[in-house]
Amino acid sequence: MSGKSQRRPLVSGNWKMNLNHYEAIQIVQKLSYLVSKDDFEQVDVSLHPPFTDLRSVQTLIEADELRFVLGAQNCHHENSGAFTGEVAAPFLAKLGVRYVICGHSERRQMFGETDDVVAAKVGAVLVHGMTPIVCVGETQDEREAGQTLERVTGQVRGSLAGRTADQVAGIVVAYEPIWAIGTGLTATADDAQTVCQAIRRTIAETWNDDTAQSTRLQYGGSVKAGNIAEIMDGSDVDGVLVGGASLDPDEFARIVQYPQHSR
Ligand code: PEP
Repeated sequence: MSGKSQRRPLVSGNWKMNLNHYEAIQIVQKLSYLVSKDDFEQVDVSLHPPFTDLRSVQTLIEADELRFVLGAQNCHHENSGAFTGEVAAPFLAKLGVRYVICGHSERRQMFGETDDVVAAKVGAVLVHGMTPIVCVGETQDEREAGQTLERVTGQVRGSLAGRTADQVAGIVVAYEPIWAIGTGLTATADDAQTVCQAIRRTIAETWNDDTAQSTRLQYGGSVKAGNIAEIMDGSDVDGVLVGGASLDPDEFARIVQYPQHSR
């Protein structure tokens, strides 16, 4: 089997720096009523709260045997040491975190994370048995200069440098055009598919075809219930990374339930 049918869709909610741990519990409880067992048969769903909420959300997921998968938004690449304010990958693994976002554009832009830094984080996440969601994407200027594919595929090679084919087969890459994050602007479904196809081709060329067929690719950038079905139509788009819309449980549940509304 090869192609999209072998890759389970992954819908990820990135809460960014929103919601304290009490609010987090409320949202997850609401979601647990809205998203049914049948929905989880079709789609994997990861939730990425701020660090301070992780323990509360983990406890709720375990106690109520919920099928939401716990995710984090970032980690440091070292296991421990004099890095005040940072959180190490093994701490996240101990909390039951399964997915860690690495190199979100907000971290690349505001905290100076380069491809080398992202590559080190990806290594740490893998060593501790978790799955990185590696974010890549172009700025508005790069897009207007026709540099989207060059920029994005360069980030893929740089952020995954040093990884084996087996490791790359298990990771997630999120194509998140910077101009579409939190702006209400969305790449067209055709653009999302074109860039995801280029990312898959780059993985095939750098590692091999089987690896490229296994890697899950997400689109992120102002995804909502009203546009997800169209975006997921792309044959190389295996899921979505959702920011703002994941803070509203009704909207996020409708996003998760997109297979029911697909054309
Ligand atoms: C994100 O935070 O990764 C994101 C895509 O945000 P939004 O959905 O709000 O554009």
